Amino acid sequence: MSDEVRTTCPYCGVGCGVLVQFDDSGAIVKGNPEHRSNLGRLCSKGAALGETLTLDGRLLKPKLHGADCDWDTALDQVAGRFKAVIEEHGPDAVAFYVSGQLLTEDYYVANKIMKGFIGSAKIDTNSRLCMSSAVAAHKRAFGADTVPCSYEDLERTNLIVITGSNTAWCHPVIYQRIKQAKLDNPGLDIVVIDPRKTSTCEIADLHLPLKSGTDSVLFNGLLVYLNDHGEINKLFVDSCTENLEQTLAAAYESAGRIEDVAQQCGLSVEQVNRFYTLFARKEKVVTLFSQGINQSSSGTDKGNSIINCHLLSGRIGRPGMGPFSITGQPNAMGGREVGGLANQLSAHMDLENPQHRKLVQKHWGSPVMADKQGYKAVEMFEAIHAGKIKAIWIMATNPAVSMPDNRRVREALAKCEFVVVSDCMEKTDTTAYGHVLLPATTWGERDGMVTSSERRISRQRAFREAPGEAKHDWWIISEVGKRMGFKDAFSYASPREIFVEYAALTGKENNGSRDLDISALADLDDQAYEQFRHLQWPVTFKKPGGTTRMFEDGRFFTPSGKARFVPITPRAPANAVDPTYPLVLNTGRVRDQWHTMTRTGRSAKLSAHKPEAFVQIHPQDASRYGVGDGELVKVSSRWGDITVRGKVTEDVVAGTIFIPMHWNNQFSSQGGVGAIVNPDTDPVSGQPEFKHTPVHIQSAKPAWYGFLLSRRRFDMTSQNYWSLSKGRQLWRYEIAGDEIPGDWAAHARSLLCAHDEDVAWMEYFDAGARRYRAARMVGDQVESCIFIGPDHQLPNRDWLMGLFDKPALSDQEKAFLLSGRPGDKGSDAGPSVCACFGVGRNTIIQAIKEQKLLSVDAIGKALKAGTNCGSCIPELKALLETGQS
Ligand code: SF4
Repeated sequence: MSDEVRTTCPYCGVGCGVLVQFDDSGAIVKGNPEHRSNLGRLCSKGAALGETLTLDGRLLKPKLHGADCDWDTALDQVAGRFKAVIEEHGPDAVAFYVSGQLLTEDYYVANKIMKGFIGSAKIDTNSRLCMSSAVAAHKRAFGADTVPCSYEDLERTNLIVITGSNTAWCHPVIYQRIKQAKLDNPGLDIVVIDPRKTSTCEIADLHLPLKSGTDSVLFNGLLVYLNDHGEINKLFVDSCTENLEQTLAAAYESAGRIEDVAQQCGLSVEQVNRFYTLFARKEKVVTLFSQGINQSSSGTDKGNSIINCHLLSGRIGRPGMGPFSITGQPNAMGGREVGGLANQLSAHMDLENPQHRKLVQKHWGSPVMADKQGYKAVEMFEAIHAGKIKAIWIMATNPAVSMPDNRRVREALAKCEFVVVSDCMEKTDTTAYGHVLLPATTWGERDGMVTSSERRISRQRAFREAPGEAKHDWWIISEVGKRMGFKDAFSYASPREIFVEYAALTGKENNGSRDLDISALADLDDQAYEQFRHLQWPVTFKKPGGTTRMFEDGRFFTPSGKARFVPITPRAPANAVDPTYPLVLNTGRVRDQWHTMTRTGRSAKLSAHKPEAFVQIHPQDASRYGVGDGELVKVSSRWGDITVRGKVTEDVVAGTIFIPMHWNNQFSSQGGVGAIVNPDTDPVSGQPEFKHTPVHIQSAKPAWYGFLLSRRRFDMTSQNYWSLSKGRQLWRYEIAGDEIPGDWAAHARSLLCAHDEDVAWMEYFDAGARRYRAARMVGDQVESCIFIGPDHQLPNRDWLMGLFDKPALSDQEKAFLLSGRPGDKGSDAGPSVCACFGVGRNTIIQAIKEQKLLSVDAIGKALKAGTNCGSCIPELKALLETGQS
């Protein structure tokens, strides 16, 4: 094993420090106890990082029109075609679509070449989909995109308001810190504002299941309440803020009475009153907000409605207080810092500011400088569709899945004259459209910086060689820059050289006038860069140890130095009323998957928790629309339709449904929710409305349901419905069809590609009941099995999947294989609950009953479940009730 390497988790914006030891047999991954973001903790995704280091599916060579080529050919093609398009159509005819997965150095050079050398701002990032409304709200209120708080504020506060965030699943280590803070401080109250009853509600003292899209009404009402009850920090408001009068007028207009607020938000007066009273009474309040606020056609206003309340009560710039936007991606913050968005310049400077443009241009020594905003993400793909953009380079992201109305995005990419995709994976829904594919390095192979939600800059470090011919993104972009004629500006030998150039830019003519200043890092030499641990920016010569909290001096980055209240007139979500589509679709993450599953979908541990795309439906709606739990459900919107597994639950309120965002055509024929998501955007931030799409549901009514488990992976493209997930020794397919095959055996053999007659083949067919089951044995090992029936009531997959771990089945197991259950003498662990230790539902319930377990701690002692990342604890609590009843 290698020495322990300190690096940072590549998933969410918490930015957990990770310790890795690696050799060819695998990796040992642990949380870094010295890292201030996580203090040694990891969630299920971070803990399973070692499992995702496989080279299976990696893009290992450059490809030109589907054929392998060498790097020179690929780079010459990219540079040549981009130059030709620019010469013929101008610089605005080319674009980059980049990603919060890139490291800061990659992001910096992509932005530099587009804005300073091509001379266009046609660069945008998938962070537009994630937190651009928070950026816009910060800029409106503070004059800069400044996150005021630190994670330690969560431990120093008396009230945490979590709004628009299922923190337990999406930022699990922040959730763990909050949970511990609550144990340590019984005076800490937690309010969760979310239309869904999520796992985060497990720690809530108050859950407000507000009506989708009414957040600004709720916070305008809070502003009114604070004002009416004299909960104003007058000294702070008078000396450090402006624009209160107009803001209060707008708030009284929309939310003057608690009764009106309650009615508009679909809450009781008591619920609203309790929230407002808590906020007013607790001196220290942190409001944690995320995609539920940002992903809206009024996301910027929602952000400002929260910030307004913190400004009025002076709850900002002091320990344990502040509005705290938490980012989705590992380096969304780094991208914001180096100007990855189409409306920003590097180092938090403004594209519209001539002095800033001049300053950046001089620092880069560039021949030109973009002087007007480029297209924001949704506009960018529309411009491709309209033929205005003729060449696009997509880096480290999968817009064919993640964009709203993604069928339109796919059309745009199919029409585009020249599409370049840099990715670590060969087959994604987006690489399918690439004329040139460039193999990029990924986590564990690359070096650079990332910034977490609390402004903490950390190192990602390589601990293994780049496989095949994969190259670092900064190198690929720089090589194209050199070939486009910008040799001097892109002759970097290492990411350190890029980082120090960027760090120096942050200090240029700054003197405290801009929030982002890391000029104290501009002289890092190779050794210092290599040894860099983590610091929160600003990092200046006055504050070389970084800055925990912003605005402690009451000075902001507006021209007046005062924070601005922003008047908010709440708007209903775009397309809110549509009788054809009477339900509201909300989207989000599941606990154990990351984005479009290109990495986490390859982990058996992480795939066990939610193996198939699903829709959560309230029982009233299920009954109204004739949909049953476990059935396939067709979900339709104005933009398309998809088919996913129905889960009937009271975790969503009646009138709304929830579908996770992760599934795509590599893992599912019809589960990609982006195909039906509303592409309307916020007029200020350009962030799409992912949380509110009018939809209709109906039972998909397939003629048959089935599942297939196999050690081999199949091409399922001819199959009507299929969904794929990874098991330990197998692939699991959920399947369904609209037509009953004439010959089940032939159909099953064709699905299993099993035409070799000499292999043992066990079959069971009940023509009357329309049930077909078969297993293919190689020696005493099960190689594959298939179960088909007229409805979704099929055997539990978990026991069958466990049989694939066995080198030889016992006679008992063989005898019961086609019954799909272990028989009297066997046991079935049930569906996975604890991903870290692979503990199933049945095992837990059995232990609760037999060992009379009364607490989550007792389950942990008995089975280890819940003792690592803790992400499954809410489910363990629910099972305690089931097991004890
Ligand atoms: Fe990674 Fe989990 Fe930490 Fe997020 S919370 S950075 S996914 S370990």
